[in-house]
Amino acid sequence: MRGTAAPGSGTVDLELTPEQREFSETVEKFALRELNDDLVGRDRDGVFAEKNWRKCAATGLLGLPVPAEYGGQDADATTTTAALEALGYGCRDNGLLFSLHAHLWAGVSPIVRFGSAGQKERYLPAMCAGESIAGHAMSEPGSGSDAFALTTSVTRRGGNYVLNGSKTFVSNAPIADVLLVFAVEERRRGFAGVSAFLVDRDTPGLTVSKPLSKMGLRTSPMGDVRLDDCEIPAACLLGPEGAGMAVFTWTMERERSFILATALGTMRRDLERCVEHARTRHQFGQPIGSFQAVSHRIVDMRMRLDVSRLLLRRLARLTDRGEPTAVEAALAKVYVSEAFVQSGLDAIQIHGGYGYSTEYEVERDLRDALASRIYSGTSEIQRDLAARHMGLSARTFGKEQRKSE
Ligand SMILES: Cc1cc2nc3c(=O)[nH]c(=O)nc-3n(C[C@H](O)[C@H](O)[C@H](O)COP(=O)(O)OP(=O)(O)OC[C@H]3O[C@@H](n4cnc5c(N)ncnc54)[C@H](O)[C@@H]3O)c2cc1C
Repeated sequence: MRGTAAPGSGTVDLELTPEQREFSETVEKFALRELNDDLVGRDRDGVFAEKNWRKCAATGLLGLPVPAEYGGQDADATTTTAALEALGYGCRDNGLLFSLHAHLWAGVSPIVRFGSAGQKERYLPAMCAGESIAGHAMSEPGSGSDAFALTTSVTRRGGNYVLNGSKTFVSNAPIADVLLVFAVEERRRGFAGVSAFLVDRDTPGLTVSKPLSKMGLRTSPMGDVRLDDCEIPAACLLGPEGAGMAVFTWTMERERSFILATALGTMRRDLERCVEHARTRHQFGQPIGSFQAVSHRIVDMRMRLDVSRLLLRRLARLTDRGEPTAVEAALAKVYVSEAFVQSGLDAIQIHGGYGYSTEYEVERDLRDALASRIYSGTSEIQRDLAARHMGLSARTFGKEQRKSE
């Protein structure tokens, strides 16, 4: 499934092809029909919808960026962004969507990009089919934004590697079959000593905590991971030894490019709901939408949604052309996540007390949206990243990193 992004001179064609539109419509109808059962209860109890995960697999969504020879859709970035917006519109379970993003962008995609033929054959078909779930284990109790201050260590034992350390905030960890784990050599601490490993869930020495309780994305399980003398064969290394920084940087840029495409759908749904409510809810003898304070709030929601879509679609087009996207991905991540949060706040305000009640299913989108300013690199770190690319000095990215780039 490929679009027609023409190589150009700085301008991008933001139209979708009929094929891309048709695929998006199919995804939207599927999501509306299949993915919203008992959501209030599952959100309250923190239950991951395994059967809906399998339905997503059957619809091809778990293999969007994967070549057809490994069971995927081979979809380009524009098709993917449009399909994910449709998925986000149809599926109100933002937790399920977040697990899907963690799987696709932080697990599947780096295997497509850096995996050996053996790793691709071993992991990708099962991941596309919904039989194997991926997670990404970089963050540690002492290293979040400063990701390369990680202390999880890797040493050699004969032909094998041995991992020791602990990871936190690992999305999908409690349900994952394989984790992408980053570790650093004791003797080569710093960027050049970091490597990436694919570690199977049942490897002796790897333990996963119970799901961590969190305010939003409650249907997406997250856990801590411990590695105690966890011995893995050399074939688990993803990419060359010492290439962990390149694997992580590429993976995060890719994740930032797509992880908020479903939020476009959520924002579109919230907007439609607010318009409907503002037209039908009467106070002081008039629909509340006739009060300028309400209508202008809704117009601002629409403006932020349109700008968010333009940013993500431009980013997708640049990705399809193979052009650099570090700055565009950072800008889109900051803008869309902040628009997502504002959209959640506005939707509650427009719905008044009903917006605040869990049964009405408006407040959940705000709880789910808040994490978007933190995961995949916080808004502050994205602004730093953009500033650095604009030639402004940002303390976050010091001499050491620039040397190794
Ligand atoms: C829902 C969710 C899912 C996640 N999933 C995963 C996952 O699957 N795998 C994984 O490895 N991690 C995951 N994370 C962790 C995430 O990557 C980190 O939370 C994030 O990178 C921030 O790190 P921290 O929480 O340690 O905050 P800190 O780095 O301690 O930051 C705290 C605050 O200080 C600010 N700050 C820090 N440094 C600077 C600076 N130089 N300049 C300006 N401000 C700064 C931050 O922006 C933030 O506001 C997830 C997090 C969340 C919330």
